[in-house]
Amino acid sequence: MSKNSYVIGFPRIGEKRELKKVLESFWAKDCSFDEVKKVASELKKRHWNYQKDAGITYISSNDFSLYDNMLDTAFMLNAIPKRFKHLKDEELYFAMARGNQNSVAMEMTKWFNTNYHYIVPELSLDDKYSLNSSKILEEYKEAKELGIKTKINLIGPITFLGLSKRVDRGDTFELLSKVLPIYEKLLNELSTLDDSVIVQIDEPIFVKDNEPKVLSLIKPVYDRLGTISDNLKIIVTTYFEHSNEATKVLTKTPIWGIGLDFLYGEENTQALEEIANSGKKLIAGVVDGRNIWKNNIQNTLEILANITKHIKKDNLLISSSCSLLHSPLTLKYEQKLDSSIKEWLSFAYEKLQEITIISKIFFSGLESLDSNEIKIYEENINANHNRKNSTVIHDKDVQKRVNSFDKFSRNGKYEERIKLQREILAYKDLATTTIGSFPQTPEVRKSRRDFKKGEISQELYEKAMKDYIDDCIAFQEECGLEVLVHGEPERNDMVEYFGEQLKGYGFSQNGWVQSYGSRCVKPPFIFGDISRPKPMTVDWITYAQSKTSKIMKGMLTGPVTILNWSFVRDDLPRSEVSKQIAVALSDEIDDLQKAGIKIIQVDEAAFKEGYPLRTNKIKEYEDWAVRDFKISVSSAKQETQIHTHMCYSEFNDIIKTIEAMDADVISIETARSGNELLKIFKEVGYKQEVGPGVYDIHSPRVPSVEEIVKQINLLLEVLPKEQLWINPDCGLKTRKYEEVKPSLINMVKAVKQIREER
Ligand code: GLN
Ligand code: ZN
Repeated sequence: MSKNSYVIGFPRIGEKRELKKVLESFWAKDCSFDEVKKVASELKKRHWNYQKDAGITYISSNDFSLYDNMLDTAFMLNAIPKRFKHLKDEELYFAMARGNQNSVAMEMTKWFNTNYHYIVPELSLDDKYSLNSSKILEEYKEAKELGIKTKINLIGPITFLGLSKRVDRGDTFELLSKVLPIYEKLLNELSTLDDSVIVQIDEPIFVKDNEPKVLSLIKPVYDRLGTISDNLKIIVTTYFEHSNEATKVLTKTPIWGIGLDFLYGEENTQALEEIANSGKKLIAGVVDGRNIWKNNIQNTLEILANITKHIKKDNLLISSSCSLLHSPLTLKYEQKLDSSIKEWLSFAYEKLQEITIISKIFFSGLESLDSNEIKIYEENINANHNRKNSTVIHDKDVQKRVNSFDKFSRNGKYEERIKLQREILAYKDLATTTIGSFPQTPEVRKSRRDFKKGEISQELYEKAMKDYIDDCIAFQEECGLEVLVHGEPERNDMVEYFGEQLKGYGFSQNGWVQSYGSRCVKPPFIFGDISRPKPMTVDWITYAQSKTSKIMKGMLTGPVTILNWSFVRDDLPRSEVSKQIAVALSDEIDDLQKAGIKIIQVDEAAFKEGYPLRTNKIKEYEDWAVRDFKISVSSAKQETQIHTHMCYSEFNDIIKTIEAMDADVISIETARSGNELLKIFKEVGYKQEVGPGVYDIHSPRVPSVEEIVKQINLLLEVLPKEQLWINPDCGLKTRKYEEVKPSLINMVKAVKQIREER
């Protein structure tokens, strides 16, 4: 075993997504809950053993969850929303997560700036909390029976409250006096488990710009939690950014250790002196827990050497930067990856070895490595060397072109462009369109799958896609939509589709990462300089255009979204990678318009997801994100109309940034909140055209004509008809044709009715 090696948390979904499969089978009533428990136990056992066998000193329990750790924490506190109170056990737990016949599920939202989503606890002043510690105790005992003494993971009270919502309106922190005693009681119980018990309390909310009011809670909370019992050692961990304001306070509380992320929060080094003076342990996050690249062990040893200028070696623990939950599980099933690319990668399982080796070298020198570890260490040096020099990664031509690319915006001001466009395109006010995708039928999925596997010919595949496009167009014409789309049947996913055609992109076979509950995503990864060997969408779109006399809208995914939904190389700033994608997209737009396409939509569904956690870093992000969106559309002629689409509606903070992107038309999601979210567009005097969603596509419900008329009238109270487009909230790919057809027919009827009235 290595000395002082530490893992914040481990993925739980399983290397073959066993947890996903058993949960979904249980929900479908195809197996019993005992079966779920059995698989869960096997997974926990396997994951503990992986860590033990890799020589990790500090291994977690209670990092496992059947759905989500925030939900588990709500469960632990018995913070059960009223609508679920009559249920119990697993029925209750999964109803809270997923809803049931009678009650909607609890809300779900993104965990900081990751693609993991947690369940938002619902609290209220008249709640009565009580401790339910059984899961935590059982997991500890389960590991102990296997001979593994774990540290126990908890989500801290301040983060828990900060990420919850009050159903009775008001401040969640008002509930601290109710929640804290439960945590105290829990720690008391935990202290009886063993002679000495370590508890890791995650407080990632400390990496945000917290108000003084929130910061003032840290000292009293951790003074109390730190003095529950002499045999308890409390570690408070943060990740994804620096947490200097909180660290300063924590050093003055009786906790045992502080865990900090030195990769995504380099500024954490500013707190080293204070930590050193406090004599506390420092859990140094130096192995990237949310990316897929092999650690550069030599660089990491340098980071550690710098840390030891302040902190005594004996007080250091070597750790992952955050829970490994955010990286895929293991490389062992990757058979198709090019071996030179595979040698650059490291998933959760492989990261365990890196942590051990780094800690061994750091504490006991190279000579302490066994022969297998020496081999891994040497491979590590080689891989990093090769990565620096590989021609697969570094493409001189791309670099030259991107560095000298200086077309940062389109020709012509918006006012001039829109005049030209409206002349040429001749669309009416309240023009109707959709966001791009139409339902992905089982047949279309099957054709794509069969083609990928080589089971059907290119010809057959193309025919299947074209048949779909034909039908899709026929329907749109029939129902009277004005700006048409081809329906995106050829796309499995809006990022993967482009990744597959761009040079510099790689794909794993099994690199699944939990997104929420049983759902996983398999993000493609950017390993090298990005370029576009040939047009990516032109054939499909021109085919579609040839089938209709109406305007066919070209459909691309924007640079920032492609970036934010991929694993990104760590040897180049994100802003540069994004610029490379943008330049490639600008060529695509040029080709599309040369092929006669007059409207092109560049989706930026994930634009907001890339926002930094710290306010002082927002401007930098916005600057390059806007720059790259504008680069990608810079080739568009004045008369080519550029649309963009964003899947949310909270624009208050970013409206000026959205305006600066200078798209001619933006479609957004607003249906669920009437015209509320549109108001900001009016307030700031937003000039460009806007397509606020008029019905919610997340529900199978078909909206009536009257309903949509009402919704459009609400929109018209805010913006004039000259500025509005009418469309659904988002793409229709997850819906069924039976739902989509009547909904769109009603949407078109509603517009017709309104045009007649006005
Ligand atoms: N054009 C994409 C679609 O309709 C946009 C999807 C999205 O915004 N998430 O599917
Ligand atoms: Zn959307």
